[in-house]
Amino acid sequence: MSSSAAPRYPLVLVPGLLGFISLLGYPYWYGIVSALRRLGARVFPVLVSSVHSSEVRGEQLLLRIGEILQQTGAEKVHLIGHSQGALTARYVAALRPEWVASVTSVAGPNHGSELADFLQRKAPHGSLRERLLAFLLRAVARCMAWLERGYTGPPLPMDVAAAQQSLTSAGVAAFNAQYPQGLPESWGGEGAAEVAGVRYYSWSGTLQAGITDKDGNRFDGPNVACRLFARTFRREAGQCDGMVGRYSSHLGTVIGDSYPLDHFDIVNQTFGLVGKGADPVRLFVEHAQRLQAAGL
Ligand code: CA
Repeated sequence: MSSSAAPRYPLVLVPGLLGFISLLGYPYWYGIVSALRRLGARVFPVLVSSVHSSEVRGEQLLLRIGEILQQTGAEKVHLIGHSQGALTARYVAALRPEWVASVTSVAGPNHGSELADFLQRKAPHGSLRERLLAFLLRAVARCMAWLERGYTGPPLPMDVAAAQQSLTSAGVAAFNAQYPQGLPESWGGEGAAEVAGVRYYSWSGTLQAGITDKDGNRFDGPNVACRLFARTFRREAGQCDGMVGRYSSHLGTVIGDSYPLDHFDIVNQTFGLVGKGADPVRLFVEHAQRLQAAGL
């Protein structure tokens, strides 16, 4: 059983594109799983295909949740998805709401990623650039699968084109038409707090000059990458975390959408190196307390 200070239902953490559980002992949810466990929560960082559509990843997540429910005897789980993990969680909640107490989107591209749109424009289907990018992505994913130590299931399939399609604004719009649960009705608004018995929440960050590029992030390569990626944004120029726009991340109750965190900081990467005054782990702990206070 979980302690009385912890959420009643297990927390299932779903990673994004190129996600992992533990690479040679190095965790995706850096310092987050341990902080949640200190609270007394039952926490399951899971793996789904690191490169694939949100629907295929969602089907894999459904199987994994079935196992977790059986293992724990819990009636439901909380799903917390980072980046594409949020879309993966939303798919599951749409199909099996009775299994899901809440879906929380952490920097989820719930209306698509303008970075994915940019890549699609610059490396269109059938182009040499597209083939090169796909080759690199597959190579990185295979290398990560080889280093993965936290996953014991069967090999997971990979489909670069399906992953790309699942992250563009047009691709996510098609996904949203089928799985609209928790989405805001207007751009920049909040979504329903609860749909079919499932609570929906989201939080995200933005790049903030003089803050997110300071302290630990001065030595962190992914922050430099996010600052480069941010230049590809048009609709949400100056209002993104490098990979996902502030309003694009909105789902259900918006806990916050402008924390000083880039797309990797928000899961405390890398090695806890984040910008000035940032504390991404605290957001997870507070959220677990929020769920517990709601009786979930
Ligand atoms: Ca960082």
